[in-house]
Amino acid sequence: MQKGQGLGFKRQRIELEACPTCKGKAVVEGVFYEQICTACNGSGWVVLGSGLVLPSDELVTQLSFKLQQAQREIDGLQQGPSISGPAAYYQQNNRRGAGGTNYTGD
Ligand SMILES: [Zn+2]
Repeated sequence: MQKGQGLGFKRQRIELEACPTCKGKAVVEGVFYEQICTACNGSGWVVLGSGLVLPSDELVTQLSFKLQQAQREIDGLQQGPSISGPAAYYQQNNRRGAGGTNYTGD
């Protein structure tokens, strides 16, 4: 019995960790050139705890989840500390400047 594999359910999120063989770089130093790391299928990631490599189709989905998560974190950082309420509206409105001109000269 494998749990979480049933059809019609949300895709299971598999926790990943950096591949210990290539240190998450997806490639290993060959003698003359870099080679795709076979321990992680060239992804740089293995299953957390077991160190198993995911099959390519599953790997793509899990990497997508991971990338989406990372992107959300980046977006959060770029927005800075969240300001809400009337103060946020005031600041945003103020920044646009009178007349909405975009004068970039000096
Ligand atoms: Zn690897």
